[in-house]
Amino acid sequence: MATHAEPEIWFLTGSQAMYGEDTLRQVADQSRQIAAALDDSPHIPARVVWKPVLTTSGDILRVCRDAAARGAVGVIAWMHTFSPAKMWIAGLDALQTPLLHLHTQANVLLPWDEIDMDFMNLNQAAHGDREFGFIQTRLGVARKTVAGHVSDPRVVSRVGAWARAAIGWSAMRSLRLARFGDNMRDVAVTEGDKVEAELRFGVSVNTYGVNDLVQVVGEVTDAQVDDLVKEYDDSYRMVSELRPGGDRHESLRYAARLELGLRAFLERGGFRAFTTNFEDLGGLRQLPGIAVQRLMADGYGFGGEGDWKTSVLVHTLKAMAVGVDGGTSFMEDYTYDLTPGRELVLGAHMLEVCPSIAADVPAVEIHPLSIGGREDPVRLVFDAEPGPAVVLGLADMGERFRLVANEVDVVAPPHPLRRLPVARAVWRPRPHLAGSAEAWITAGAPHHTVLSQAVGAEELHDLAEMSRTELVVIDADTDPRRFADEIRWNQAYYRLARGF
Ligand code: MN
Repeated sequence: MATHAEPEIWFLTGSQAMYGEDTLRQVADQSRQIAAALDDSPHIPARVVWKPVLTTSGDILRVCRDAAARGAVGVIAWMHTFSPAKMWIAGLDALQTPLLHLHTQANVLLPWDEIDMDFMNLNQAAHGDREFGFIQTRLGVARKTVAGHVSDPRVVSRVGAWARAAIGWSAMRSLRLARFGDNMRDVAVTEGDKVEAELRFGVSVNTYGVNDLVQVVGEVTDAQVDDLVKEYDDSYRMVSELRPGGDRHESLRYAARLELGLRAFLERGGFRAFTTNFEDLGGLRQLPGIAVQRLMADGYGFGGEGDWKTSVLVHTLKAMAVGVDGGTSFMEDYTYDLTPGRELVLGAHMLEVCPSIAADVPAVEIHPLSIGGREDPVRLVFDAEPGPAVVLGLADMGERFRLVANEVDVVAPPHPLRRLPVARAVWRPRPHLAGSAEAWITAGAPHHTVLSQAVGAEELHDLAEMSRTELVVIDADTDPRRFADEIRWNQAYYRLARGF
């Protein structure tokens, strides 16, 4: 649906001059209708902007260059008639935005009784799009191909998934991430090549001394703290010891100060993602808990223990979640219930789980933290909303990145978790715990992940294609032996595809 805040996707129509003005007018009318149908769809969270019909290589090159320059997040192309594809070589070579090839036609039914050669010549995407497919494959253009009529819900849903991926890709390309301190000492999987990440994903990752943050926290005024404490009280169920007059109200005020300081630091620097490390808290009195949780709920990426790769994913998937229900959070596979036939994963973190995935109003609580050696941190505690979700991790394989996803089903905890003082999600991974865990570990995928109830495997495939990054998906059909083969084949493919 069109609003001004929405990103733009450009709709390009290919044809050629030999059909004459009258035919080209009909091509324009019909392609405007297709573009309007996509623009009106509630499943596509972007404005779909129709562009004049393209019949020369000069015009094609210009529009492909303009798309990125004018901020379009993606381009949809349809060869309505027959657009000789050598005209598209320069344009596709210059295209800097994601591409979706919509293989469609204006009509659903053929007018069998009346069809003549005029109709045939006007409606020839069936072979025009094959010509376009050849040149895209010949040039090695990354794209998504969607076939079908725009009145088919499956077609607009697939275009919508791609549009969300394009929005996420655009967010990733412009992302600035602040790390407070370095990675947790000696941990392997949270490390990674920040130069390669900026080249591949466009994300800028830099470290700041945690005492730079301490200074901004110190500038927060008491009046600001008063307001935020009131907001906490209005938004959540608060334990009495944290309420005004309670024994530990001062800890809540410090937690609020921490949130205000973090928020100010991130806003001043234009950062939309960050990391913390409990080993490196400088002059901070608490490990940030509720602060991180609420910043995530506002769309910030986060990773614990210096994990900037997962923080990038959290922000990107939150950007992709536009227009759909369901939350997205930083997550960690913590511990299992291995009851045969009813195996479950209990996911959580020390504190930092996003309340966007909460089933109910979170509770604000304070408990000791056995690591970090600071004052007890304030945190939001809740169970995650049951339903289908995806878990995504990013590993640095040395010469490239690998994305690994697992389709899961979040369930209500089988028993109340009365003594567990952190937010958590309980899920049944597909195909089952053993198959999921064996495949995940075979892929070398990380223990930190993003759990999203808003984004699915199709969006992730589209994002992987846009970023030309390997993605392996563990789902209901995964067979561990075939999966191990897929990993081997992919290793060979990506090494060859990279060249020398
Ligand atoms: Mn962790």
